[in-house]
Amino acid sequence: MNYNHDMTSQLIRQNVARLLSELPGGVEVVAAAKRRTPAEVLEAVQAGIQIIGENYVREAKEAHELVGKRAKWHFIGTLRKHDVRRTALEIFDMMESVDSLEIAREIDEKCAQIGKIMPILIEVNSGREPQKSGALPENTEQIIRAISGLENIKVMGLMTMGPRFGSPEDFRPYFAETRKTFERIKGLKSPDVEMRYLSMGMTDSYQIAIEEGANIIRIGTKIFGERD
Ligand SMILES: *Cc1c(COP(=O)(O)O)cnc(C)c1O
Repeated sequence: MNYNHDMTSQLIRQNVARLLSELPGGVEVVAAAKRRTPAEVLEAVQAGIQIIGENYVREAKEAHELVGKRAKWHFIGTLRKHDVRRTALEIFDMMESVDSLEIAREIDEKCAQIGKIMPILIEVNSGREPQKSGALPENTEQIIRAISGLENIKVMGLMTMGPRFGSPEDFRPYFAETRKTFERIKGLKSPDVEMRYLSMGMTDSYQIAIEEGANIIRIGTKIFGERD
């Protein structure tokens, strides 16, 4: 262990303690771990983080080797067909970024092979940005209806990023709209759908997201510091 490593681990511990102490009850933190080392991820878990969010399968596998079942693992990155391998699905406890029937079918098929029922969230492209992944808000209900019949998947809510802005307050309408979609679909009371989680908000926007009903927030920078 060198000096830098000790500095980093102390910062992570302080950041996690501060964040957890200021959150209202019922809000879960996903530590967004992209481009962090397995040692940093472990540090966050030892400081009290219970869920790790991974954007890349390869990074997830490396961190998982060190941290293992001391945390839950959520996939939060852009989900492509080649990410959906059995060895990846074995690691993850939830896939937060499912945005099409096609990718859901792939997960369903592979989960059948490993005997797992995978909880998923549907990612909503709340900013309707053409370059971004996620289902359009107006298509979300239809996608959930189509997916809900798959036997090895359980739809448990929605996730959204929202457009990148300078000011946190600018996120509010996108979070509010996603909450509305969430409540509407929840109100349908479909037998195979359990609308329990609304994952919204990052370092700059999580306070607004919680005000707008998020019960999962995904935090990277505020836990681990600026990314290189
Ligand atoms: C990186 C990332 C986050 C966290 O971003 P910060 O601004 O560092 O808190 C949250 N969600 C997703 C999907 C991410 O890729």
